[in-house]
Amino acid sequence: MSDCLFCRIAAGEIPANVVARTADAMAFHDINPQAPTHVLVIPTEHVAGPADLVAPGRERVAGSLLQFAAQVAHQLGLVATGYRLVLNQGVDGGQSVGHVHVHVLGGRRMTWPPG
Ligand code: AMP
Ligand code: ZN
Repeated sequence: MSDCLFCRIAAGEIPANVVARTADAMAFHDINPQAPTHVLVIPTEHVAGPADLVAPGRERVAGSLLQFAAQVAHQLGLVATGYRLVLNQGVDGGQSVGHVHVHVLGGRRMTWPPG
């Protein structure tokens, strides 16, 4: 989608601090980090949010996105101390970009419940 920020990052039209890429996903540092390590993992294909992962055939996108997020956390050295994966959906979820993304947060002790 030409008007989608993360599609434009995936296409290389908007610069990002890229951590890793696969054929169908990429990971880049969040522009406004909420933890010492804060990386976003997105599918290259436009999927608006977690709610759209229920569409037929999207299980492959959902599975590879979660697996890639785990690989990125490993690459960033977060496994020993731990990390948090977050997906926000819609207004109550606090989603601000309409292209599904996994937040990979680490480097500090997270609190619960989330805000
Ligand atoms: P969410 O609120 O879950 O939709 O998360 C969107 C995230 O995208 C926020 O944490 C923003 O800081 C981040 N963000 C917005 N624009 C950019 C950008 N150009 N590059 C990297 N991260 C961004
Ligand atoms: Zn998009």
